[in-house]
Amino acid sequence: MAAFLPFALPDIGEEEIAEVVHTLRSGWITTGPKTKQFEDDFALYLGDGVHAVAVNSATAGLHLALEAIGIKEGDEVITTTHTFTASAEIVRYFGADPIFVDIDPDTYCIDADAIEDAITSKTRAIIPVHYGGLACDMNRIQDIAKRYNLAVVEDAAHAFPTLYGGKVVGTLESVCAIFSFYATKTIATGEGGMLVTRDSRIAARARVMRLHGIDRDAFDRYTSDRPAWYYQVVAPGFKYNMTDLAAALGIHQLRKAAQFRQRRAEIAARYDKELRALPLRLPPDGAPGDEHAWHLYVVQVTHDSPINRDELIRKLFEAGIGCSVHYIPLHQQPYWRERYHLTPEQFPNSQRLYEGCVSLPIYTKMSDADQTRVIEALRSIVGK
Ligand SMILES: *Cc1c(COP(=O)(O)O)cnc(C)c1O
Repeated sequence: MAAFLPFALPDIGEEEIAEVVHTLRSGWITTGPKTKQFEDDFALYLGDGVHAVAVNSATAGLHLALEAIGIKEGDEVITTTHTFTASAEIVRYFGADPIFVDIDPDTYCIDADAIEDAITSKTRAIIPVHYGGLACDMNRIQDIAKRYNLAVVEDAAHAFPTLYGGKVVGTLESVCAIFSFYATKTIATGEGGMLVTRDSRIAARARVMRLHGIDRDAFDRYTSDRPAWYYQVVAPGFKYNMTDLAAALGIHQLRKAAQFRQRRAEIAARYDKELRALPLRLPPDGAPGDEHAWHLYVVQVTHDSPINRDELIRKLFEAGIGCSVHYIPLHQQPYWRERYHLTPEQFPNSQRLYEGCVSLPIYTKMSDADQTRVIEALRSIVGK
């Protein structure tokens, strides 16, 4: 039998390896010139004059975004139940409360109507999650945010690069968008993230708070004309800075991002074509002007599928194929369920997606033959 096909693998080339070696030899292994270069390159890639602040995870970036907009105890922040726990846990860091709402059954992204219904006098912000790499209905979300004076912080962990109505996610009207470079994401630095904003005050605050609340980061200290030993602590900040080792990877991953996306789009198109006849619901691919990052390719078993989701995953594993579930919704997780008394009935669309969904392998290190194996396995497991 062929070797096990993992669900995801990073695509690290010789350029990344050489840059890491160069960084190691340079003597500057924490935040320094490579991080600065990665931020500059990333901001330039998105365009439109945005600021990019590199951090050691998207979770850290989300935390800094809420800190910068002044979230405090007792505030409410609306997000989707159909996400990774990081989207909501950062709200609890402030003693504030995430208010969970259901997804749109067609896009799997947060339902804009449900957002509006959930707004109270305590609501301060909305965290939409671009599920799988397809942008949320940002025009409607932005419209709601304006009418109720709320901040929008995009969880763009899946959305690099994603277009919404022809515009790059990261350059939309929101206060901030946060990208993830976790090992399985569309570009990877092992651990890492980027907070992107067009508001220079938010960027400045995030830069200070990512490194202990110190007013200049270590690299600036050694390159500006103030004495090297001098710094000022202006707030009790965090330890969220990106290392130059991670940035060394990011610089080259970024250069390949468009080519990586192209390859994932090719894999998605082939799944679309070859799985169409099976009793599986295929993922949405967006409205005109949208471009999907294809971080995830999520199929759902339908009522005429011969087996349920759990059996399908078991049989795929038996066939040597890794797959996953995105997500076990937060209303099913003990902490969230118990703290906020959540039930599946409150989130019928998310619950239905959860019960039927399987994320198939979709990454650049997969060969056509690997994909053929996935397709044939699905045909033999759920085909007539
Ligand atoms: C991966 C992920 C995060 C967290 O990213 P890290 O870089 O691992 O902190 C947040 N939200 C979503 C939707 C994610 O998939």
